[in-house]
Amino acid sequence: MTSVLVINSGSSSIKYQLFDMDEGTVLASGAAERIGEAESLLRHRLHRGTETNEHRQQCCIADHREGLVQIGTLLRDSGALTDLSQLAAIGHRVVHGGEHFREPVLIDAGVVDRIRDMIPLAPLHNPANLTGIEVALQQAPETPQVAVFDTAFHQSIPEPAWRYALPDRLYREQRVRRYGFHGTSHAYVARQAAAMLGKPLESTQLITLHLGNGASAAAIAGGKSIDTSMGMTPLEGLVMGTRCGDLDPAIPFYLARTTAMEYDEIESLLNRDSGLRGICGANDMREVHRLADAGDEQARLALEMYSYRIKKYIGAYYAALGTVDAVVFTGGIGENDARLRAQCCGGLEALGIELDTGKNTTGSGAFAIHNTTSRVRLLVIPTNEELEIARQAMYCIRHRG
Ligand code: ADP
Repeated sequence: MTSVLVINSGSSSIKYQLFDMDEGTVLASGAAERIGEAESLLRHRLHRGTETNEHRQQCCIADHREGLVQIGTLLRDSGALTDLSQLAAIGHRVVHGGEHFREPVLIDAGVVDRIRDMIPLAPLHNPANLTGIEVALQQAPETPQVAVFDTAFHQSIPEPAWRYALPDRLYREQRVRRYGFHGTSHAYVARQAAAMLGKPLESTQLITLHLGNGASAAAIAGGKSIDTSMGMTPLEGLVMGTRCGDLDPAIPFYLARTTAMEYDEIESLLNRDSGLRGICGANDMREVHRLADAGDEQARLALEMYSYRIKKYIGAYYAALGTVDAVVFTGGIGENDARLRAQCCGGLEALGIELDTGKNTTGSGAFAIHNTTSRVRLLVIPTNEELEIARQAMYCIRHRG
């Protein structure tokens, strides 16, 4: 059996999925959470056919090293794996690959150094991703390990789209440019969408909308990203759960001048207390709907703002692409929220975007929601970033290892 372990190492958690790549199935999944706290949590699921056995355990996990040791023990004890050395590869999610990493890469000491170099660009994410890599390299030194970057898919964006209109030296000396994120998800749903349309990816034009807690749009021409809404950081673009998205860049300076807020407080405000939460107090979309249904005007406004921003990006990316075969909805909101999808598509008939209300509210899994006269196809496709990381890891060891 060819098995690949995918690791997503965050600041206080390690999430994992073990895949059987021959069958394309998940053998086991889980997470070590609240690492470093007094009461940590281990969740482990063993999948056998249609059966799932879940194991939950409260314990103390001092650090990522201990977390990964415990995960290895659970994988062995549950019979999912005899040893980490049995894996064909370990795939690691890494948030920021800067300009250097345009594709997944086999990890060696040089790659670790490069990922460390990117820490100033992703100070919250890359250190945690690196810890996961370092611990896994110690635990399974013989297993090929591959880094898969959230930014890599967007490295195909042409320069006029990735540049900010700032002095050139800021790009050359400080690496200030648009990078984009959620690349693994946009790449995965683009491939799925082309298959659903029955067209080669190389001749398919797509607007993909990843709407989860974070949210981003991408314009994809022939399988390559040509623009995306997140920028140098994930703060730019769409309205998100707690992030503001697009903003007049003068606002932080105005706030610094007119309030007692320090710059890091303003940064935190824009990242953690804005977006849906800032407008109506709730960042979970289900709660926003609940409030709006109960007559909360702020929640209704939040929904209008959220969908209006998406419409603006659909219009912009339509212009960037010239022709559009399909608009794809994915992420927790994109996959599940029929009302929000309807709000995003409403009034776009002149662009050839026509929703079928019945299909929109009744479909499940991957399904089409356009009506019979719509020139543009509208698709809902569940994302699967872990499977995409596993596939890319296999591709990397087979073709570049
Ligand atoms: P993450 O970006 O953390 O991976 P997800 O992709 O899981 O997040 O998306 C989380 C968002 O999806 C939350 O705002 C949640 O409210 C929303 N969501 C999940 N299920 C539904 C649903 N049935 N209807 C509306 N929103 C939903």
